[in-house]
Amino acid sequence: MSKQRVAIIGLGIMGGGMASRLLSAGFPLAVYNRNPDKTVPFANAGALVASSPREVASRGDIIISMVADDIASRNVWLGENGALAGAARGSVLIESSTLTVGWIKELAHAAAQRGCEFLDAPVTGTKPHAASGELLFLVGGSASALATARPVLSVLGQEIVQLGPNGSGALLKLINNFVCGVQAASFAEAASMIDSGGLDHEKAVAILTNGAPGSGIVKRAASRAAANDFTPNFPLRLMAKDLGYAIDEASHRGLDLKTASSALAVFKHAIAQGHGDEDFSAVVKSLRQS
Ligand code: NAP
Repeated sequence: MSKQRVAIIGLGIMGGGMASRLLSAGFPLAVYNRNPDKTVPFANAGALVASSPREVASRGDIIISMVADDIASRNVWLGENGALAGAARGSVLIESSTLTVGWIKELAHAAAQRGCEFLDAPVTGTKPHAASGELLFLVGGSASALATARPVLSVLGQEIVQLGPNGSGALLKLINNFVCGVQAASFAEAASMIDSGGLDHEKAVAILTNGAPGSGIVKRAASRAAANDFTPNFPLRLMAKDLGYAIDEASHRGLDLKTASSALAVFKHAIAQGHGDEDFSAVVKSLRQS
């Protein structure tokens, strides 16, 4: 059976890795990125470069968006040059960015009106996992849409979990990331307390990371801080975005995420210090400097 044509919108850290992976696996690929400079390596590797989301969508049976936030997602899907306008009836539209549940539901409705199937399929994993096809997809949407998309998603991810109707993947992703954000902010405060107490920094951090507080995200933050390498795998500004979306989502449901609100204040402080485009782990540096 011939491979499905895939269109990717957004060639940032994650979308770029996913596009490379699909090209290596031999999928016919069309790409679009707002800043056209980022498309050059993909054109050189054989992808078709489109000049608008509408054009790229017209080249795909499976259309995947991987952009920063709700504003970016609205920009690429909606309007005269948006991907929805170019998508053929029967194509499967996949939104893999981490977005609000409200926008995902609106987009699912707009896709249905176009005669397209729609999945929200945000991911866990970061830059290396995107490039090596080891993401975990959190999927909201119908079993039939997922069955059609599975040959593509299984090249990008080592696990695909179907959670329920549209919006379910988006909701769990926000829950996942607010817990990550809280842990990272709490580790940043711990690191500054270690310093202010005059403890041996390396020894104290090893006790935390090898003990009960040593979650995957805390380990990642600690190792980046130890190496003083804040090249972004997951940009700090996106962690702040996810905390904000989770807080708003909870509040629509009558819940008050107090720990997420405190963590967001810590991340906003880091952004104010100029660390927004660095890795999320720069939150540790932001408190150690003050
Ligand atoms: P990134 O490197 O900052 O890339 C963002 C992408 O969005 C770029 O292609 C950018 O285009 C595009 N974009 C931003 N604003 C836009 C707008 N207004 N209109 C059109 N395009 C716009 O981010 P990333 O790390 O790849 O993350 C992408 C998504 O995946 C985010 O929702 C993020 O929360 C989520 N995510 C990230 C990770 C991670 O570890 N990095 C892990 C899981 C999920 P330009 O190049 O033109 O700026």
